[in-house]
Amino acid sequence: MTETTHQYQDIRDAVRDLCSQFPDEYFRKIDEARGYPEAFVDALTQAGWLAALIPQQYGGSGLGLTEASVIMEEINRSGGNSGACHGQMYNMGTLLRHGSEEQKRQYLPKIASGELRLQSMGVTEPTTGTDTTKIKTTAVRRGDRYVINGQKVWISRVQHSDLMILLARTTPLSDVTKKSEGMSIFLVDLREAIGKGLTVQPILNMVNHETNELFFDNLEIPAENLIGEEGKGFKYILDGLNAERTLIAAECIGDGYWFIDRVTKYVKDRQVFGRPIGQNQGVQFPIARAFVNVEAANLMRFEAARRFDAHETCGAQANMAKLLAADASWEAANACLQFHGGFGFACEYDVERKFRETRLYQVAPISTNLILSYVAEHMLGLPRSF
Ligand SMILES: Cc1cc2nc3c(=O)[nH]c(=O)nc-3n(C[C@H](O)[C@H](O)[C@H](O)COP(=O)(O)OP(=O)(O)OC[C@H]3O[C@@H](n4cnc5c(N)ncnc54)[C@H](O)[C@@H]3O)c2cc1C
Repeated sequence: MTETTHQYQDIRDAVRDLCSQFPDEYFRKIDEARGYPEAFVDALTQAGWLAALIPQQYGGSGLGLTEASVIMEEINRSGGNSGACHGQMYNMGTLLRHGSEEQKRQYLPKIASGELRLQSMGVTEPTTGTDTTKIKTTAVRRGDRYVINGQKVWISRVQHSDLMILLARTTPLSDVTKKSEGMSIFLVDLREAIGKGLTVQPILNMVNHETNELFFDNLEIPAENLIGEEGKGFKYILDGLNAERTLIAAECIGDGYWFIDRVTKYVKDRQVFGRPIGQNQGVQFPIARAFVNVEAANLMRFEAARRFDAHETCGAQANMAKLLAADASWEAANACLQFHGGFGFACEYDVERKFRETRLYQVAPISTNLILSYVAEHMLGLPRSF
């Protein structure tokens, strides 16, 4: 394995140790019940891992996105699913980089102690999809409040979070010169909002991912919950999205190694035609190729995280890392399922669960096509297609 796999060994050992208390059966049962891994998320919080990015003066450990990505990778590599809690990592960047000192003092120590969870980010809308600048949810200033109206879809962990970062239009699209202007981000206190202008409708889905449709009907929030300057929200949210893509890349890499570990062990043991199936090159090569691709994606993930931590532009690297890692984990998932034969479909092997979980990352948080479009336009200078 490459050098990077061995970096941050102390973090890896500690997270693995915690994850070992939550074995396959734990996540399998949670998946079957379509439950939330409350005990696991609590244990991560108590151990301080979900406060990794919070500076020490606010009670966190002041680590970077690189270390945060190692934590997420190890959770997935141990057989768990960071999807239950990764929101707190990528939302943190938005609050840290663009929140006021007062907001940081008000929220960060409570998030660090586990008293509050910042797990949700509301961007996607049903009639807009990936075309984010066309969002229709509006926030209108009335005195010392903003009034929110509109709808969001696929907003995760709302039922297990206290706070949500929300993207809404504060200036109509028709009144701005650039379509990326006129949007703002807000911190919504879900404890106060739900039932008082915010309705939450859970969406049952293929993976056990707590995600919801949100309806805003004259929801009032205090004006001081605006993060940064009004109208600059799209620029701010991009930081959060780059962090999210880098973290998801790390999770896919964790998945990729999990699939490769499992299938490698299985094909060494499984005897058919009087020899281990792993002796056949037809079996070896797809596994070896997936391993090569996971290793390569890992390098881009560390480069994206390094650039994010150094405050360098990292959009290209975050996107490329996410695409490479999602493709590599999906390739590893297919090899793992295939060479488990019928047993790959049995829930007790956990392969089918991880297979479903890693498939999500071809679509969310950004689809593979949209990343290719970004690379074609922004890196290769090809004509805009939309
Ligand atoms: C389980 C889950 C959890 C999620 N959690 C959150 C969350 O917490 N917060 C949040 O804001 N969102 C969340 N999302 C939403 C997610 O980010 C979107 O589903 C994703 O960005 C794709 O948007 P869409 O579903 O509207 O697809 P669409 O934009 O409708 O696109 C559908 C497909 O069409 C293709 N496509 C679209 N436009 C183009 C184009 N111009 N060129 C080529 N291909 C194109 C792509 O392949 C894409 O997959 C979640 C989604 C899921 C499934």
